[in-house]
Formats: sequence, structure tokens, C-alpha cells
Amino acid sequence: MKTLSQHLKARFGQRVQKISLIAQSTCPNRDGTITRGGCTFCNNYAFFPNELLKQPIAKQLTDGIARYKERGKANKFLAYFQAYTSTHGDLDALLAMFQQAMAHPDVVGLCLGTRPDCLPEPLLQWLSDKQQRGYEIWLELGVQTMHDQTLARVNRGHTSASTIEAMQRCRAYGLQTCVHMIAGLPGETVADVLSSWRRMRTLKPTGVKWHPLQVIKGTQLAKTYRQGNYQPWSEQTYIATIARVLQETDEHTVVHRLSASLNKNDWLLAPQWSLASRQVRHQIVSQLEARQ
Ligand code: SF4
Repeated sequence: MKTLSQHLKARFGQRVQKISLIAQSTCPNRDGTITRGGCTFCNNYAFFPNELLKQPIAKQLTDGIARYKERGKANKFLAYFQAYTSTHGDLDALLAMFQQAMAHPDVVGLCLGTRPDCLPEPLLQWLSDKQQRGYEIWLELGVQTMHDQTLARVNRGHTSASTIEAMQRCRAYGLQTCVHMIAGLPGETVADVLSSWRRMRTLKPTGVKWHPLQVIKGTQLAKTYRQGNYQPWSEQTYIATIARVLQETDEHTVVHRLSASLNKNDWLLAPQWSLASRQVRHQIVSQLEARQ
């Protein structure tokens, strides 16, 4: 097991930084392609500054790169299309946008945040070609859980069968997959998270991101929480569970993230401990060290 920064440093011989970009303003689980309601926990506005939404991709990228370069933090970058479902929409337009980002001389690769059911064949072929030309390519798949009952409960609009198929197709193209998993989904126990991960592990993801479920204002989950029908996990349960799944993670797997991605408290209802993501990560590592 290694971190993403270790993986990138080993490959490029220097620090490589992800630059988050916002291109799409919707996803098939919101625009009616699959459903209109969206996932019960999702509110993308909580994660992305509104001003970014209005800027063209080229400006978002050059501004992001300039910020890191000025601080001497990095000189090479991955263009990360993060918001909503970045592979949903007109494919020619999407590929032109990805190509534009990759044409920047300091960009060494591409990360695409998407869903298991939004991977058209020509996209996989295009990404595979880029990978063969030396670009670092990651498909970041919102899997969340391998339990179909939970997927239905949170209105994901896809099943574990879609995930299995997506993983197999990405593998067939030799593409790297980073699966996004959530601990603490409604109705799931620690045992459910472990069994979900064990099932996922058989699909051999290249990388993984773990998050606690955060209750964000403006979501269906926030209503459920306010009605007293959802109780977030405690910090200690989350830390112990993630330490456990990491013990059951293959040696070659690249760990991209171990804690929450929302670090601003104005959108968060619960759990408050999830805002201290650095501390959560530190405690997970300490537990692993204690278990040697
Ligand atoms: S989590 Fe992703 S798939 Fe679900 S509603 Fe939000 S953007 Fe759409």
C-alpha cells in the first residue's frame, strides 16, 4: 500500500499536484437520464466555490497551476475533473476539453471523477491511448458501497453489477481505477463496510479513497438526519474501521484519501469530527502502527 503522492513521486521523480477543475454542472442521476433526485447525500455546491463554476477550464487550470508554482509546492500537475459526473455529456466536447487540459506543458495526466455507468467505450479507448503515450490516467469511480440495498436506499441509480462491469472494462483497457468508498452509509454496519470492501478487493482496484458519510445541508440525508432517522458514525468507529480495511488492502493499492473531503463547516451538519480530516488520518495511521 502506498499513498498517491508516493506513487506519483516514484513515477515522475518529483511532487505532482492534482488541480481540481469544474466542468459539468450535472450528472445522469440529476438530469433525468437515470433519475432526477440525485444521491441522497449529494450537494456539489458544498465542495466547489461558486466562482469556479463560472470560469473556463483553461483559466481554472492556469490559475491553479500558478498558485502551486508561486508557493514552490509543485511543478507538475494532474488535471482533475472532479465535480458531478465528468464523463457524462457529449463525448466529442468532453474529449476536446480533456485534450485542452492535457495540452498544458506542466500537465502530466488526467483524473476523471465519474460513476461506474458512465464509461462509454470510445472514452476508455481514448484514455488508454493517452496512457500508452505516457500520461498518468485515473478513473475515479463513485462506488460508495457494494451492497445493492444501500445503493437503492441512497438513490445511487446504479447497482453493484454496474460497478463489477465497469471495473472489468477498465481492467481490459489497462486503465487505473480509484474507487471512492463511503463508511457510515444509512443502514450499514461496520461488518457491511468490511464485506463491501472484501467484494471490491476481488475486482482489484488500482487505488481507493475512503470518506466518512457527511450530512450536508440541502440534501435528502440532511432531512433524514434532522428527523432523527440517521445517526452518523462516531470518530472512533470510523478510524477503527478504516484501519481494519487498510489491513485488508493489497500491497500495490494506491491510497488516495482516508478522510473527508469537505473541510468547510458552513455546509456540514454532522459529524463535526469529520472536519479535522488531518487528525482523522493521523489517528488511522497511528492505529495501523500500533498493530504493526
Ligand atoms: S454523488 Fe455524483 S452521481 Fe450522485 S447526485 Fe451527486 S454528482 Fe450525481
